[in-house]
Amino acid sequence: MKITRAEAFLVDLEPETPRQDAIQAFVKQETIFVELTTDEGLTGLGYSYTIGTGGRAVLAMLREDLLHRLVGEDARQVEALWQKLFWATHGTVVGAITSLALAAVDTALWDLRCKAAGQPLWLLAGGARPRIPLYDTEGGWLQLPIEEIVAGAKASVAKGWRGIKIKVGKPDAYEDVERLRAVREAIGPHVDLMIDANQSLTYAEAKRRARLFEPLDLFWFEEPLPAEDLSGHVQLASSTSLPIAVGESIYSVSHFREYLAAGACGIVQVDVARIGGITPWLKTAHLAEAFNVKVAPHFLMELHVSLACAVPNALYVEHIPQLRRLTMKELEIVDGYAVAPMEPGLGIAWNRDAIENLRAA
Ligand code: MG
Repeated sequence: MKITRAEAFLVDLEPETPRQDAIQAFVKQETIFVELTTDEGLTGLGYSYTIGTGGRAVLAMLREDLLHRLVGEDARQVEALWQKLFWATHGTVVGAITSLALAAVDTALWDLRCKAAGQPLWLLAGGARPRIPLYDTEGGWLQLPIEEIVAGAKASVAKGWRGIKIKVGKPDAYEDVERLRAVREAIGPHVDLMIDANQSLTYAEAKRRARLFEPLDLFWFEEPLPAEDLSGHVQLASSTSLPIAVGESIYSVSHFREYLAAGACGIVQVDVARIGGITPWLKTAHLAEAFNVKVAPHFLMELHVSLACAVPNALYVEHIPQLRRLTMKELEIVDGYAVAPMEPGLGIAWNRDAIENLRAA
């Protein structure tokens, strides 16, 4: 199955709702697509994303440095092609731009692999279970007033969703506590309540806030510290009863290995775009399994539903819908579970007309 054409393009998507956390706003989703065509007439469509910056750099890297290396290659040799592209950009790896570019290619290769086999991604990548619990982030953004996060939490519970995530990192720690207490009172003890500081705290402040948060029985404390601060995570994980979740800002499998080997996290949130595609995503999930650690991938629910259903140690998929303007069909949600699509390929029903109309580069 030889690759005869490799193309990349970019679509800018406005956020479906305003999203602010402790360090940033979700400005726009730069969605970088890679389309691969083969001599057998199959096409694979993969994608990657940013939350507002760097998308054009990813696109340029694909067009200038990567895509021409794929033409003439056997699309079935996904590992070989991933390695070839990785080493071709050796001067700029490990890095976000390269990882995001590799992800757009790798997901296109997996789309082809699944289509050629006539199998959905969740089965071909492992087939652990057909559905996975969903938790909601969309009602818990930092800019929302306390009444709105409480109303959002109640609405999510009414839909049958198992968990709710609230952003933290207000300048006043007690404002965080007040918001979390109001949500906990509204949802009761049986719904998982997660928090996310988006790397905004120091070790000293995270340790202090963890102590204030502990009585609220939180399911996890996500990105308390900058991802570079491995030793801070090790100290924090051993000083609090709150499980520490990390991964959306980690760009290589080996970096996850360091976190896991050091006991620096209790939950892994590997992001298929930022890790460089499905190939390294699966390696990371299996690595976590070997450490008896669960996986709850970051964002991209439309793709992560199939990956979470592929592996035995997935915990949750995160509800942040963002592709509705580009797809014909929404993620299927039944009784609080996201259902893995059964169509051969990645299982995302792209609307090619909408993509063409919104194409920005
Ligand atoms: Mg997060």
